[in-house]
Amino acid sequence: MKILALNCGSSSVKFALVEAGEGAPRILARGHVEPVGSREGAAVCEEPGAPRRLRIVALPDHDHAIRAALEMLVEAEAGIIRTREEIEAVGHRMVHGGDRFREPALITQEVVRVIQDCVPLAPLHNPHNLKGYFACASLLPHAAHVAVFDTAFHQTMPAKAYTYALPQDLCERYRVRRYGFHGASHRWLAERYAELHGRPMGDFKLITCHLGNGCSMCAIEGGRSVDTSMGMTPLEGLVMGTRAGDVDAAAVLRLMQWEGLSIERMDALLNKGSGLYGISGISNDMRTLLEQAARGDGRAELAIEVFCYRIRKYLGAYYAVLDGAHAVIFTGGIGENAPEIRARVCRSLDALGIRLDEQRNRAAIGREMDLSAEGARTRVWVIPTNEETLIARETLRALRAAGRYRP
Ligand code: ADP
Repeated sequence: MKILALNCGSSSVKFALVEAGEGAPRILARGHVEPVGSREGAAVCEEPGAPRRLRIVALPDHDHAIRAALEMLVEAEAGIIRTREEIEAVGHRMVHGGDRFREPALITQEVVRVIQDCVPLAPLHNPHNLKGYFACASLLPHAAHVAVFDTAFHQTMPAKAYTYALPQDLCERYRVRRYGFHGASHRWLAERYAELHGRPMGDFKLITCHLGNGCSMCAIEGGRSVDTSMGMTPLEGLVMGTRAGDVDAAAVLRLMQWEGLSIERMDALLNKGSGLYGISGISNDMRTLLEQAARGDGRAELAIEVFCYRIRKYLGAYYAVLDGAHAVIFTGGIGENAPEIRARVCRSLDALGIRLDEQRNRAAIGREMDLSAEGARTRVWVIPTNEETLIARETLRALRAAGRYRP
């Protein structure tokens, strides 16, 4: 079946048309429309083997952006679809489902109400995700609409992992707790690892590392997330492109006091001005930092060191959480493509049974591979992930569960 995977942010709409069913999902076309909220924006669409197409369009709101995306798909040279009606389902990426969703959900009025209820937890994301749904629901009324939550997979975390040591009456009132994100990606890594080994997901203890612009790790036992590094928001945990990750809350309070920073400015500083970019002062892009560090730039080197050291700390922590692990799995732009980062993370971890085969590590660029040295107790893998196919896969899973998909 043809599934439209949709990711609506504040100023952009990313989309992909995915053929999904019994086999591996296949991307038929993908593109983006931006900036939403402008008189003139660009709609870009690419199909495998065809030249990239670009249209200049008026983009006052998300409704216009989604119309433009659908027009690009219907006009695709390869004739992927002739009419919108051929799109049977839409998977909507929803950032926050609070503690209500453990699985992707077929969107109903009640589901919309709960997502609206989660807006205070993700004020920069959920409202735009919902705008995308409303626009799509009126443009594609025949299609099934599914909400795919970043948070759902982590709803299996026990209270000891998701509870902050803050006064619990306040936490309960405002739903302050750890939720975790990148859930579909961590889940996919566990599923795929099990599939590759011809055994059920429940047989393994895994530590998954999603290292992209946003970075998170997850401890998975019995096919369930038991801990993850992002928290109430995606800010907690690892060092990321522009996010600080773990930081002493008192340092944040003092900086606000000393610099006279508003909540909004501090929020931007922590989410957009920190991480690899904040430490290096050069870039949030790992490729640039690796190049600069190789040329002897000390700030780029420090950013990379802090990045890898934080991952190693979480590896050790999750090894303890799980009481050992069968495998560590890398994914995301950095996890899949940067052998040097994987080598730095896995160096001298004999105590955890981790040893990389250097050649295999160097060869594993953007492809599925076991990187471990012969006889290493804990295996290390690269398993590529892709947001659009994840959304399509989760959409299909929700349709199956609801009896709305029959091969
Ligand atoms: P997002 O989280 O936005 O989906 P990606 O998963 O695409 O991001 O990851 C982006 C990150 O991956 C950037 O830091 C980029 O530098 C890094 N990256 C991509 N290719 C390489 C590469 N060949 N070597 C090192 N880093 C890479």
